[in-house]
Amino acid sequence: MSYNPKKQAQHKEHVDQAIEKAQEERGQVLVITGNGKGKTTGGFGTLFRALGHQQKVAAVQFVKGDLECGERNLLEQLNVPVHTMNTGFSWNSEDKEVDKQAAQIAWQAAKSFITDPSLDLVLLDELTYMITWGFIELDDIITTLKQRPTEMSVVITGRAAHRELKEYADTISEVRPEKHAFHQGLKARQGLDW
Ligand code: ATP
Ligand code: MG
Repeated sequence: MSYNPKKQAQHKEHVDQAIEKAQEERGQVLVITGNGKGKTTGGFGTLFRALGHQQKVAAVQFVKGDLECGERNLLEQLNVPVHTMNTGFSWNSEDKEVDKQAAQIAWQAAKSFITDPSLDLVLLDELTYMITWGFIELDDIITTLKQRPTEMSVVITGRAAHRELKEYADTISEVRPEKHAFHQGLKARQGLDW
């Protein structure tokens, strides 16, 4: 496909018209789901975008806290509040109640962020699994999202997002794995995968 300035101008016109039609302005809920790579990085990318506009942000990671994570390191340097599930948490734990309790503590942190009117954006990384595994009530999540401050946006990541969560979301991106280095025997890499 060759570059056609006329087509580009037409496309821009269509986009401009659509932008003009948009009337409502409010915070939004974005779900980044699917089996491809780019959900968590997309979520943090949005957080960094907001930070670049001096907005106030916070994040909760619904994953084991002792896993290294470049984004968390950077956010801590910037004094951005990040709650990560406590290190005692293990996906392999025999005791489901222990895992559920860790998830509940993280959810309470998430709730305090989502009800904080001074925040512009909240990232709930890997939240979808908490619903799948019954660690956090879906109704509680939807109710909390509905009651959030009007200007607040929330980004939720994780595979297999629940149908009802998707119904409530304003934007859903499904990341599809066309190819992944892992399947060619390549090791996960610092700075690229975590
Ligand atoms: P990332 O954190 O890189 O944005 P993600 O959040 O989309 O990835 P997760 O499902 O949370 O993906 O998985 C986290 C880890 O698994 C990352 O190291 C990522 O590279 C790897 N991964 C993601 N998708 C795939 C896939 N389709 N096959 C194999 N590994 C994957
Ligand atoms: Mg992820």
